[in-house]
Amino acid sequence: MSKKPQTVRGMNDILPEVAAKWRHLEGEVESIIEAYGYLHVRLPLLEHTEVFRRSIGEVTDIVEKEMYTFADDGDSLTLRPEATASMVRAGITHGLFHNQRQKLWTVGPMFRRERPQAGRYRQFHQYDVEAMGYEGPDIDAELIIMSARLWQRLGIDRIHLEINSLGTAESRASYRDALVEYFNGVKSQLDEDSIRRLDKNPLRILDTKNPEMQAIVAAAPLMIDHLDEASAEHFDGLKLLLDAAGVKYEVNPRLVRGLDYYSRTVFEWVTDALGSQNAVCAGGRYDGLVEKLGGRPTPAIGWAMGVERFVALYEACGGEFPATGPDVYFVAVGEGTAEKAFALAEQLRDALPEARFESNLGGGSFKAQMKRADRSGAGYALILGEQELSEGRIGLKPLRSKDEQESIALDELAAVLQVRLSG
Ligand code: ATP
Ligand code: MG
Repeated sequence: MSKKPQTVRGMNDILPEVAAKWRHLEGEVESIIEAYGYLHVRLPLLEHTEVFRRSIGEVTDIVEKEMYTFADDGDSLTLRPEATASMVRAGITHGLFHNQRQKLWTVGPMFRRERPQAGRYRQFHQYDVEAMGYEGPDIDAELIIMSARLWQRLGIDRIHLEINSLGTAESRASYRDALVEYFNGVKSQLDEDSIRRLDKNPLRILDTKNPEMQAIVAAAPLMIDHLDEASAEHFDGLKLLLDAAGVKYEVNPRLVRGLDYYSRTVFEWVTDALGSQNAVCAGGRYDGLVEKLGGRPTPAIGWAMGVERFVALYEACGGEFPATGPDVYFVAVGEGTAEKAFALAEQLRDALPEARFESNLGGGSFKAQMKRADRSGAGYALILGEQELSEGRIGLKPLRSKDEQESIALDELAAVLQVRLSG
């Protein structure tokens, strides 16, 4: 016997029951994002590897270890590990940032070769929201407030906000020197990754996930002490706007994020409901990235939210989902009834385009059809027998309550269903 085929490790099939939950929540997310004026774009899953190397940074977990990269006719291509780099690339490709500001969003799969575990997959999904051409801090605040609105609308309360400022490239250079000095002093206690990063990218040591490194990292110098004046003012401006909006936050001076392109504002929404995979939505400002990828200097900021963690968090907070089955299941037994029911279903689909009708396909006894109707999750069965057919009527049987079956004249059926289904 051959073994059942399996998915690639860390990549999941999203089957109907879960996909329906995703679609429900996606509707909520998208209505909020669009209400703030962001426009939808769809970008390729593959980019030239350079796009990610240059933006995320050579000495980062993603670029060093996690990208799915392959040669294609002499080109090196990579499955996108995140969307910001692709968004910026697309903006430059199409000249979207020339004297224009852009607010863009997208959603889709991202790929990282991480160790799969609950809440951490090799193909996962992200919402990605980016505002290009805005200096902030007003847009920084608005982006964060927009995410806070989403939690509030969905009753997600087990989440809190951490913010920090990474300053400008110049102020980070002085911070970098302080870090190199500090880490050199404790070099014998650093792990292999950190020693390698010490000269190339000491900031990355700060987001190590190695538990044995936590104490050393906790005692490292803080960026906030090296912040330039303009960045400090920018950060104060953000805090004021968040205060005014009633969005609570905690300044976490150790928050650096795992990608190199960030400057000034960085933030993370963190939950206590999902174990160690606790970051649900995260982002920051990347004022230097457009120029670095070959565009004109363009300040920009964005966030990304992991769909898997977001759905899990919504459920952990007691969130519910609407029923997914059809509204009405047609049961037809006896000579000529199946054809009539089939035609009736089409007429009702014309009359009530929002309602979901499921015809009983492939015949079967009354009992077998009623069983299918029940299993479908439908709220009602419409029952057509030979007698109903001859009288121009049909039976309407509630399946989820003990209410009696009614007999309805066919020419009143659409009107009756409209009332029943809206209640
Ligand atoms: P983590 O600290 O958990 O590794 P991250 O900082 O690498 O997250 P980002 O690159 O900021 O994550 O991506 C934004 C969001 O995408 C995260 O907050 C998380 O919700 C989600 N995410 C990131 N990596 C994964 C993954 N491998 N599987 C599932 N979701 C992920
Ligand atoms: Mg990560």
